Amino acid sequence: MGTGQIPIASPDASGTPARSGRAQSHGPHYVGRFAPSPTGPLHFGSLVTALASYVDARAAGGRWLLRIEDVDRTRCSLAAEREIIAQLAGYGFEHDGEVVRQSERDALYLDALSRLQHAALIYACQCTRKQLADQPRNADGETIYPGTCRDAQLPIAPLAEAAPRATRAASPLALRLHVNDAGSPAAHIRWSDRCFGEQQQDVATEVGDFVLRRADSLFAYQLAVVVDDAAQGITDVVRGADLLGNTARQIVLQQRLGLPRPHYLHVPLVRNEDGQKMSKQTRAAPIHIDSALATLHAAWQFLGQAPVLGVARISDFWRAAIASWSANAVLPRMGDARRHAVAFG
Ligand SMILES: [Zn+2]
Repeated sequence: MGTGQIPIASPDASGTPARSGRAQSHGPHYVGRFAPSPTGPLHFGSLVTALASYVDARAAGGRWLLRIEDVDRTRCSLAAEREIIAQLAGYGFEHDGEVVRQSERDALYLDALSRLQHAALIYACQCTRKQLADQPRNADGETIYPGTCRDAQLPIAPLAEAAPRATRAASPLALRLHVNDAGSPAAHIRWSDRCFGEQQQDVATEVGDFVLRRADSLFAYQLAVVVDDAAQGITDVVRGADLLGNTARQIVLQQRLGLPRPHYLHVPLVRNEDGQKMSKQTRAAPIHIDSALATLHAAWQFLGQAPVLGVARISDFWRAAIASWSANAVLPRMGDARRHAVAFG
């Protein structure tokens, strides 16, 4: 739908959107992270993202943290987490500090939710997926929440008493963030992506009040990622361009919670022959440790980097890659996210 959207940039001859205003990363205090969901093994697309985040952090002399994003326990498994950690080790990634798991951080998410409740920024919603099915959708294909329950004053159960869903009372309600009114500066977010350039989205009209805790009592990804990034002191988020469309609502949440905004670098998506994003859903093949060096070279090339030559071991690859990394050489691809780009004239 995209109501209230600023017209997108017209592509230049190379088919890339406007790239003015590309921000640089944070320098010496850089803290980055890789945050896979353990729903299956890493594939080439996730390796590209891991590589970009790792090298960007190391080239800045920064730290690189590993966070397992298993907040949606219905989709995640311990076996997949173990496999991902083994794959990363086999590819020579070295994370700093302990591995953090979202499934162990409910108290942090609850605390953030309580703060929002005290500020009267959340409300309960009883709409079912079916009831919302006919609502308009945004450019990312997501349903725009029309605010049905905003003024309904539905009771919010005491947050801390929310138990796992098997023991929950009947009719639990989702909790939504009251975003703000359409067109207000607090809802109309602009940010600069280090790869995709200037971006904007009016979260009120293009997303609506979004869910922070689901009706099954699981915390929403948006809340977990914002709380975790702040708690871990993340200065630079490097992740796949499929999450570009989530960035504005995460910035809204950062603002409501008084948290700093990290720098963002979204990496172009690896697509299969049909143009679909390479993912577990499209049955992307797992990466194999026995071909790690060749696969790292391929991922490096995908990121537009100059080839690293004369490399016989994985450790040599990393040394050369960190020394020659150029974030500016990562070129945005048209199909990924042009709908949020701001036009420059
Ligand atoms: Zn509702």
